[in-house]
Amino acid sequence: MDSAKNIPLSWAYDWLKKPKHQYIDGQWIAGAGDDEWMVTNPANRETLCSFAMANSDQVEYAAKIANHRHESGVWSKVSRTQRAEMLRQIARLIREKTKELAVLESLPNGKLFSESMADDIPTCADIFEYYAGWTDKFYGETSPVEDGYLNYTIKEPIGVCALIAPWNFPLYQTSLKVAAALAMGNTVIIKPSEYTPLTTIYLVELIDSHLDFPRGVINMLLTNGEMANQLTLSNNVHKVSFTGSTGVGRKIVQNSGLSNLKAATLELGGKSPCIFFEDTPDLDGAVERAFTVMFSHKGEKCSEPTRFLIHDSIYDQVLDKLIAKANAVKCGNQFDETVNQGPQCNEAQFNKILEYIEIGKGEAQLVAGGHADSEGENANGYFIRPTIFSEVNQNSRIAQEEIFGPVLCCTRFHTTEEAVQMANATAYGLAAGVYTSDVSRAHRVAEQIDAGMLFINRYGCYGLAAPFGGFRQSGWGKEMAIHSLSSYTKTKGVWVYFGDA
Ligand code: NAD
Repeated sequence: MDSAKNIPLSWAYDWLKKPKHQYIDGQWIAGAGDDEWMVTNPANRETLCSFAMANSDQVEYAAKIANHRHESGVWSKVSRTQRAEMLRQIARLIREKTKELAVLESLPNGKLFSESMADDIPTCADIFEYYAGWTDKFYGETSPVEDGYLNYTIKEPIGVCALIAPWNFPLYQTSLKVAAALAMGNTVIIKPSEYTPLTTIYLVELIDSHLDFPRGVINMLLTNGEMANQLTLSNNVHKVSFTGSTGVGRKIVQNSGLSNLKAATLELGGKSPCIFFEDTPDLDGAVERAFTVMFSHKGEKCSEPTRFLIHDSIYDQVLDKLIAKANAVKCGNQFDETVNQGPQCNEAQFNKILEYIEIGKGEAQLVAGGHADSEGENANGYFIRPTIFSEVNQNSRIAQEEIFGPVLCCTRFHTTEEAVQMANATAYGLAAGVYTSDVSRAHRVAEQIDAGMLFINRYGCYGLAAPFGGFRQSGWGKEMAIHSLSSYTKTKGVWVYFGDA
């Protein structure tokens, strides 16, 4: 496979043999936890590598040292030009090692190598370049106060940022957090998902061996949720940027209250609707796009449209197209170029999705998929056929709860009011799509839907200059763009009196 497609798999297997350690204050330190964690390939359950997790002393040590380095200004006092250059150098390293990183991303996650190679990893380099540009552009302001006074604001680094990432877009999520936090002058503790830590480890290795970051600015903990929970309780941490499940998001808010009231940004779960009105422009193209954005990355995307709300007059037509597309998908090894869908990331996720599929069979009409794909070489992997349920009631569990896999719920509607009511009928509010040729209706519906991101006539548009993030139980705060920067800073107001004595 290596030579045929120029995928550096044997390089990756050699790299995997090297010990995987914690990175604290510029030192590689073996984890002191009792438990050994195995990173596995979900296509065949083989163990890729293992490491000892950080224990509670190491977690607090990392927080303490990151705070010490923050207070001594080793990074915040570095000139903005220099800081920007360091971020650009990280981007350069990512570009030079795109293939290696893409392999290490796809191996434990199961996403297609082509998805890592074409989208995820190059975007990580873009992110570091983008935030390099922000180091000297996030202005304070002068406030319109009374005559004789000057009030101005300064944006100061918030301090030690604990950056906790999920397994679905491992390096991408980490990059969004690290780049913005470093651009604003903070020290960071990165906590990748224990399921998919490989790209983060490799990037930290590259940074450690090629760049001259001051010690303790970038730290990395390889550990589990229990230890990450402790990190969010530390008084030496000033901000948590978390992407993951809504349940863990709640704990982080509680832990903030139980400790030093640290700030938190939460990017959580979703159950996003996509409405197809009867006047959907280019119906074939719209269905094609919506299907792709729903089922790519094996349906393990927070903002994907998991609920298709389809006007009665086009319902059967759209459903037939979706079923044909689902049935044509080939599941298989993430490095096989002929495959459309890789394995789900891990056993727990695989089992959870299959459980929801069984629940769905009792709640709606199953029209495609509905089972694991265990044909031939897929027998040992976590493969699930793209699954579609029809005539789904919005009160059912499969319509209300995040499944986070290749499971789509389709529901018929008759009026615009009904569509909007259904769209808003879950606890989440991450994203929503609206397909219509009626511009006024598009804007009206966009206004009425309570979600952080609205996509009109093309579901799933993303760009670093546009804010990303949800409402309600999909989270707090925004990532990307200028919007994430305020959460990595604190605003100090300074008064000057210059009036007559
Ligand atoms: P998860 O919540 O299980 O874990 C995410 C991270 O949090 C991991 O690194 C994990 O080790 C850590 N963690 C677990 N328990 C913790 C605790 N008590 N305190 C602190 N950290 C803890 O999520 P996951 O299964 O890795 O990812 C899937 C979830 O992420 C889905 O719900 C998905 O919707 C969400 N997600 C949201 C976005 C978004 O931008 N809104 C993006 C990607 C994923």
